[in-house]
Amino acid sequence: GGTYPYAPGYYDDGDRPRIVTARFPHEDSYTLERYHATEGYEGLRKALDMTPAQVHDEVRGATVLGRGGAGFPAGVKWGLMPDGVYPRYLVVNGDESEPGTYKDRLLMERDPHQLIEGCLIAAYAVGLSQVFLYIRGEMPLAHERVATALNEAYAAGYIGKNILGTDFSVDIVLHWGAGAYVVGEETALIESLEGNRGEPRLKPPYFPAAIGLYGKPTIVNNVETISNLSWIMRNGAAEYVKIGTETSPGTRMVAVSGHVKRPGVFEIVNGTTTFRDIIYGEEFCGGIRGDRELKAFVPGGGSAPWFLPEQLDLPFESRPVGAAGSMLGSGAVMVMDETTDVPAASLTLVRFYAHESCGQCTPCREGATWLERILDRVVKGHGTRRDLDMLFEAGRTICPDPFPHAASERLGLEAQPFPFKMTTICFVGPSAYTAIHSALTLFPDEFEAKVAANGDGPAPIPVTVGT
Ligand code: NAD
Repeated sequence: GGTYPYAPGYYDDGDRPRIVTARFPHEDSYTLERYHATEGYEGLRKALDMTPAQVHDEVRGATVLGRGGAGFPAGVKWGLMPDGVYPRYLVVNGDESEPGTYKDRLLMERDPHQLIEGCLIAAYAVGLSQVFLYIRGEMPLAHERVATALNEAYAAGYIGKNILGTDFSVDIVLHWGAGAYVVGEETALIESLEGNRGEPRLKPPYFPAAIGLYGKPTIVNNVETISNLSWIMRNGAAEYVKIGTETSPGTRMVAVSGHVKRPGVFEIVNGTTTFRDIIYGEEFCGGIRGDRELKAFVPGGGSAPWFLPEQLDLPFESRPVGAAGSMLGSGAVMVMDETTDVPAASLTLVRFYAHESCGQCTPCREGATWLERILDRVVKGHGTRRDLDMLFEAGRTICPDPFPHAASERLGLEAQPFPFKMTTICFVGPSAYTAIHSALTLFPDEFEAKVAANGDGPAPIPVTVGT
C-alpha cells in the first residue's frame, strides 16, 4: 500500500446527495463484500436486461458532463464512434495530475468496484470488449485497490467471458503510468498506452472517438465520469437530472486546497453550489484559516484563470463560470488568503508547467521555460520593469489570445471567445501563461513592487523580420 505525505480528507458531513461517494464513510468501502452489501453490480445487471442502445440512451439522457475538465457529455461522445468499426476501445483516464486535483485518486482508492462496474456498463452500451484503465504512477494505493478489485470481479464473473451468463464479454487491462502530467491529455495517454513517448497528437481533425488507440475508435472517459454510471443505471436518468441544474445535472467532486480551514474533497450538487458555499460553508471548508481575508482563488485547477472575491457568488457550473471568464476544469479550487505573495504563487504554478512540458512544441518547451526563468528573477528581487513586459511577450508566443479573463471587464479589456488561439498542440503551454496572465493583470502592483528598486532594465532589442 501507499501512504502520502499530504492526504487531504474526504468530508461526508452535511445533508446533500451522494452519487459517487455514498460508500466512502465505510472503512471497507473498497471491498467486494461492502460493494455487494450496498447495491453493487446491480446497475450492471439492470443494463444487461436492456439493449445496448437503451443503456446508451439512458446515459445520454442523464447528460453526464465529462469530469476530466472539458465537460464534454459522455453520452454524446460515445455516439461519435463510427458505426461498424471494430475493435473499439474504452480507455479510462485515471492519470489525474492537474495541480490541486485529487478527486479521482479517492474514487479509485475508496470505491474501485464502482469504477469497474461503470466500465462494464459503458462497454456494453457501445459494444466493445476491451477496456484499459490507466492509473497515474504516483498513486500506488489506487493501483493496489483497483488491481485487487479487478481480480475479485474476474473471480466473481463480472469481467471476462460471458458476463453473468450473457453473451457479453469484456476484458479490463490495468496500466500503471509513470507520472507525466501531459499523459493526462487523452491522445498523449493513448501514445503512452501504445508504448510510445507520451506526446499529444494533433486534434482535430481526428478525435480518439474516430481514430484512437491502435488507430481504432476509442472512448476516453475520466474516472469520475465512469463512476457515475452505476448510480444512473440503478436509479435512471430521470432521477439523475433531478439533482443539479438542467445544464449541469448530478453532483461533482471538488477538491479544495490552500488557505481554508478544512481542505479536502467534497461531493457537491452541480450548478447550485456557489464558491462562497464551498469556501465558507460549514459543511464544506468552513472559511479561511485564521479568519483572514480572501485574496483570490483558482476555480478549476492550475490551468484556470483566477477569480477574485467578487466572483464568490458564482455557482459551480460550467456555463456561467465560462461566461464569467474562467473554467471549472478538473474540479479543483485553490484558495489564497490576504497573506499570499502573488508573484511567488504564480511561480509555483509556472514552474510546474515548465517542468511538465513534453517538449514537442517549441512555444511551450522554450516559452514556458522563459516564463519560469523571468518570473523567478522577479520573485527573487532581481527583475526589472522590462521583465514584466517580457512575461507578456513570451506568454503571447504560446497563447496569443489568453483565456477570457475574470479581470477583462474590470480592466476594460475585450473578452476573448473560447477556444482561444494557441500555438501548441495541447493546453500545457497555455496553462503556464494563464497563471502568469491572471496574476499580472489582477495584481500588477505586487509585481511592480518586486522590480521597483531595479528600474526599467535594458531597452528591448529591435528585431527586423523578413530581410
Ligand atoms: P477537449 O475539449 O478538446 O476534449 C474534450 C473531450 O471531448 C475529449 O475526449 C475529446 O476527444 C472530445 N471531443 C471534443 N470535440 C470532439 C469532436 N468534435 N469529436 C469527437 N470528440 C470530441 O478538451 P481536452 O484537451 O481533452 O481537455 C482539456 C481540459 O482538461 C481542460 O479543461 C482542463 O481542465 C482539463 N485537465 C484536466 C486534468 C486532470 O488532471 N483532470 C489535467 C489537465 C487538464
